[in-house]
Amino acid sequence: MICTEVRPEKHYIGRLPHNRDMIASIEDFCLKTHIEMGWFSLIGAVSSVTLGYYDQKQMVYVTSKADCRLEIASCSGNISRKDGKPFVHAHAVLTDEKGNAVGGHVFSETIIFAGEIHIQTFSGKPLDREHDHQTGLMLWRMFHP
Ligand code: ZN
Repeated sequence: MICTEVRPEKHYIGRLPHNRDMIASIEDFCLKTHIEMGWFSLIGAVSSVTLGYYDQKQMVYVTSKADCRLEIASCSGNISRKDGKPFVHAHAVLTDEKGNAVGGHVFSETIIFAGEIHIQTFSGKPLDREHDHQTGLMLWRMFHP
């Protein structure tokens, strides 16, 4: 495992705007408040969702969009940099009225009905994403000690 040391900085607690894209809302907040590294958890509800599953053999995301109102039973993610800008990577478990769950990688076009978020920011060497040849994913660039 290759890790980089970070230092805890600030905590933010807040509400996400109604009827806005979840990922864009968090990235906009990070841009405005100069957050480049952090971790967050989020609960609430969505009015539509786009989830992805990464097909490891084909090296592509398979996405599915659903216009349905679901609870965000659990959502966590991180904030790092991609192309010099704050980039949010989030996964979520969403539930319907019967408690049935779907989950996966959260894509844009996931619209927040209501959302409460806690962000923990970090300082340290900037964490940038770059293309990883083995997985085809945009992973963190890590430096061997
Ligand atoms: Zn993911």
